[in-house]
Amino acid sequence: MNSPALTQLRRTFGYAGFRGEQGAIVEHVIAGGDSLVLMPTGGGKSLCYQLPALLRPGTAIVVSPLIALMQDQVEALRQLGVRAAFLNSSLDAASGAQVERDFVAGAFDLLYVAPERLLAPRFLALLNQVEISLFAIDEAHCVSQWGHDFRPEYRQLTLLHERWPNVPRIALTATADAPTRNEIVERLSLGGARQFISSFDRPNIRYGVVAKDNGRRQLLEFLKGHRGEAGIVYCLSRRKVEAVAQLLVEHGLHALPYHAGLDAGVRAEHQRRFLHEDGLVMVATIAFGMGIDKPDVRFVAHLDLPKSIEGYYQETGRAGRDGEPAEAWLAYGLGDAILLRRMIAEGEAGEERKRLEHAKLDALIGYCESTVCRRQSLLAWFGETHPGACGRCDNCLHPPQTWDATEAARKALSCAYRTGQRFGAAHLIDVLRGADTAKVRQFGHQSLSTYGIGADLDGKRWRGVFRQLVAAGHLEADPERFGALRLTATATALLRGEQSLHLRLEAPKRERERSHAADVTPAAELPPEASARFDALRQWRSETAKAQNVPAYVIFHDSTLRSIALELPRDLNALATIGGVGVGKLERYGNAVLAVLASGG
Ligand code: ADP
Ligand code: ZN
Repeated sequence: MNSPALTQLRRTFGYAGFRGEQGAIVEHVIAGGDSLVLMPTGGGKSLCYQLPALLRPGTAIVVSPLIALMQDQVEALRQLGVRAAFLNSSLDAASGAQVERDFVAGAFDLLYVAPERLLAPRFLALLNQVEISLFAIDEAHCVSQWGHDFRPEYRQLTLLHERWPNVPRIALTATADAPTRNEIVERLSLGGARQFISSFDRPNIRYGVVAKDNGRRQLLEFLKGHRGEAGIVYCLSRRKVEAVAQLLVEHGLHALPYHAGLDAGVRAEHQRRFLHEDGLVMVATIAFGMGIDKPDVRFVAHLDLPKSIEGYYQETGRAGRDGEPAEAWLAYGLGDAILLRRMIAEGEAGEERKRLEHAKLDALIGYCESTVCRRQSLLAWFGETHPGACGRCDNCLHPPQTWDATEAARKALSCAYRTGQRFGAAHLIDVLRGADTAKVRQFGHQSLSTYGIGADLDGKRWRGVFRQLVAAGHLEADPERFGALRLTATATALLRGEQSLHLRLEAPKRERERSHAADVTPAAELPPEASARFDALRQWRSETAKAQNVPAYVIFHDSTLRSIALELPRDLNALATIGGVGVGKLERYGNAVLAVLASGG
């Protein structure tokens, strides 16, 4: 069956078929129905309105809150040969007026507008003069006052439905939870809209968590598997962002810092370079990422613990939007949990909010310590069941061993108790292992009954014990004394020997690294000749992008270049059959690509 939509998909976008619910959504919009689309980041939301925009008469109006993003989207569409433009505050008055005139003249299939611009009386008057094919409301969760992206203007978008009741509306978001969904329906009067809810699984992202012993060294080790690839490294503080960015540069990586303390101009420039250049690593606080839809981010690394599973999923979701293999890596240690707890405790929020934040952090720590499939745990958190273990996350690939830590836990708890619940893990481990340190002598801890009773386990094993006791809530950080650990009510049962405890056994370092090297992202694996062609194509793409001042990925995605390198098309017809090569791209770049292949391969 070759529907007009499918034909258009192949012709303009060069894709072989629809992904997931896309086909059904597109048909529904083309038929004039309202819809609410929930898809994870990278699911392919934009196609759901871009394709109907080409098949319905008139101009599609796309409301988007992210100015930085509009330009890239429009550029990507133009590269496909689609007539698209944007209107927002980044345009000067003359350019804006020109876009408006062209719009009224019917020159566009799609027009992207910022909500405040759309709602201005002047623009609403223009809308009356043009045939509108559909209204797309992107990032629809911005209507929710409880979300982190609330945009008051979004609430007024019901006006579109009131004035243009016959124009279909499609609201899209990647924010999953039911309360937000209901709020969108209510606030945008989408009660009659059909809801398309996709799975939030991101099958191409591989999740993994490592126990942090030397985070920066572990990060460098991890990055060895991602040489030349674009990625994001998240750190908690500005200072750490600066230090880590510098460390990466010293190790020959192409890295830049990004945090709210940098000058706005520097931030914008670093963001631009991340989007435009190949293989740049952004070391950033969570100030970075919103509205970044660079498709070829190959990894997201967390050097510090995020604040919640939602945050973690959103941040890691920025990897692999192009559907190619990507990696989410997180290094987690006892210090992270303690630091974040203290930040919550010392924060300005009210008691109830703090309880919620602690609970969210607990869930994330539980995720880190978990020995079951990461994907299953993450999806379960969003109320979704994944059929069976994924077979691709760290826990699936290298099932963690557990050991009976009941005895060790009792020693650890008893040591914390006997030293007055005033010390952190490092000192407690020294006491347990019978170390002769100045601090031990200063407090006379060598005469305690727990001194030296844990010499049979090494320091690393003990750190695992303390970390997991904190994670499980048997020990907690004393908010009055930084790093000091004290017993909680649940510790009693353990101490009395009424309860046993099995803990995750950290794989020895060498084994972990070997196992990591063995399953680096298969995206990098091309036969040598194809690999050389791929590099030549990337080089060509980078020059072409620079000449046009556009991001490299709007020319061709990596996946497309890789297919070209592998299949080695000899002429334009053969090139046209490759995924991601539509007629627009073929016309623009077909001959140049063939020339690269002819000269290099
Ligand atoms: P979202 O907005 O949901 O995060 P996008 O619309 O940016 O996702 O799409 C993510 C990526 O998937 C884009 O790079 C896009 O080119 C690609 N894509 C979308 N639909 C398809 C499809 N049917 N076949 C192949 N690639 C697709
Ligand atoms: Zn798994």
